[in-house]
Amino acid sequence: MTGKITFTMIKPSAFQAGYTGNILAKIEEGGYKIKAMKKISLTKEQAGHFYEMHIGKPFYEDLTTFMSSGPIIAAILEHDNAVESFRKFIGATDPAKAEEGTIRKLYGKNLSENAVHGSDSDESAERESGFFFSLIERT
Ligand code: ADP
Ligand code: MG
Repeated sequence: MTGKITFTMIKPSAFQAGYTGNILAKIEEGGYKIKAMKKISLTKEQAGHFYEMHIGKPFYEDLTTFMSSGPIIAAILEHDNAVESFRKFIGATDPAKAEEGTIRKLYGKNLSENAVHGSDSDESAERESGFFFSLIERT
């Protein structure tokens, strides 16, 4: 059984570059329904909590600095088989390896500044959605 929701963020570099409108348009054209959405700035500590599964990895420090470097857009998306289909839709973590036409290929700069986040499991989608949105914000 696969879940109906996934969680995404437009990362600081993509937001700063003015790609928000294009990225959201692409997401909607892809058939994803926006269940909740907000613009927000994370502290380094909050980014550290969000990415706690990566504690100890060599990129953790740079990742949390980057993710707290400016505003992001956070959103919950609804779609059949949401997690798997959205990860395919955004492309590989490294934009250079992402398929043509994917969001990371179109708007990602490099492995770190890869434009968007996508949850990696139904459990992550729930945890990440709850990290950013209260129950009344996601009905
Ligand atoms: P994904 O976002 O595709 O699920 P990961 O969960 O492995 O990828 O990593 C989280 C984020 O950390 C990536 O989206 C990217 O911004 C950054 N990242 C991952 N691996 C590296 C790396 N080797 N060097 C620099 N940044 C990385
Ligand atoms: Mg991940």
